[in-house]
Amino acid sequence: MERLENVDMGQYTSFRTGGRAREMVVCETAEELLGLMRSIHESGSRYIVLGNGSNTLICDAGFDGIVVRLGEAFTEIRREGDRLLCGSGALLSAVARKALAEGLSGFEFASGIPGSLGGAVFMNAGAYGGEMKDIVEEVTVVRRDGSGTAVLTGEEMDFSYRHSILEKTGDIAVSVKLRLTAGDPQKISAEMAELARRRNEKQPVQYPSCGSFFKRPEGYFAGKLIQDAGLKGLTVGGAQVSELHSGFIINRGGATASDIIDLMHLVQNIVYDKFGVRLEPEVRIIGD
Ligand SMILES: Cc1cc2nc3c(=O)[nH]c(=O)nc-3n(C[C@H](O)[C@H](O)[C@H](O)COP(=O)(O)OP(=O)(O)OC[C@H]3O[C@@H](n4cnc5c(N)ncnc54)[C@H](O)[C@@H]3O)c2cc1C
Repeated sequence: MERLENVDMGQYTSFRTGGRAREMVVCETAEELLGLMRSIHESGSRYIVLGNGSNTLICDAGFDGIVVRLGEAFTEIRREGDRLLCGSGALLSAVARKALAEGLSGFEFASGIPGSLGGAVFMNAGAYGGEMKDIVEEVTVVRRDGSGTAVLTGEEMDFSYRHSILEKTGDIAVSVKLRLTAGDPQKISAEMAELARRRNEKQPVQYPSCGSFFKRPEGYFAGKLIQDAGLKGLTVGGAQVSELHSGFIINRGGATASDIIDLMHLVQNIVYDKFGVRLEPEVRIIGD
């Protein structure tokens, strides 16, 4: 178990900005994680769980608590029949590579989503018509109070749009069983390449961001509302509504977390005034 103090969270989050965390603890085994969560529970300390930080923004004032992370040992991926058993610290890109190497289909949609499998399961991440819900068979969790582990079925995960039961329970995913099907490696590879091409064409991938900033409001598309409100390119400090994809807020260089949050409020208010639709952030905003 590694403990770091006064950690610059810009290095651990894909917006590449934000304040410092009082402490970061990296666990290497489920037992370490159980022990840590027990002690956090007993002491009542504040904490968050962080995956790859691709959907998390830490406020400039930082986070006066413990950032819990899963270490290298949680990145293993192995095949069992048509299933992949993955540590939840594994990156989606690594899972996609393994699925391709094993000739397993079903994970193509997620191959270009940044982040860890744990974060993707928590968020029920999705793209191009697929979502984690479709392929997650089981998730092994460590209970938030460190009282033990449990195995949840896909149904018990209560997945819906960008939501899973982990949001409510605070349990931590440590491993995930994915249900895939045997496929033709050439077709799998071609599909992944095509989705990567579409992503690179439509998204401002060269700038730090958290992807689509807002959730899709029922019956609308956030990016379209923002564009129709004339907000493409709107800038606060170093933060900007992407010119390429209005659903993205990007760090054009030197953005503070406050720039991003101020821009978020501005976009929310203008879209609400024009269309009466309340945009809710998909990005998890953490801190003091
Ligand atoms: C350029 C870009 C493109 C993107 N495109 C997409 C897209 O197409 N579709 C999409 O859905 N998202 C997209 N995203 C958002 C992001 O990639 C996903 O939300 C991803 O699933 C986040 O994973 P993470 O590990 O980085 O999560 P983090 O940001 O680290 O965490 C997100 C949430 O998950 C929780 N969490 C993390 N790990 C665990 C765990 N092991 N157990 C329990 N909870 C955990 C955290 O506490 C936090 O609440 C994009 C982001 C970027 C930067």
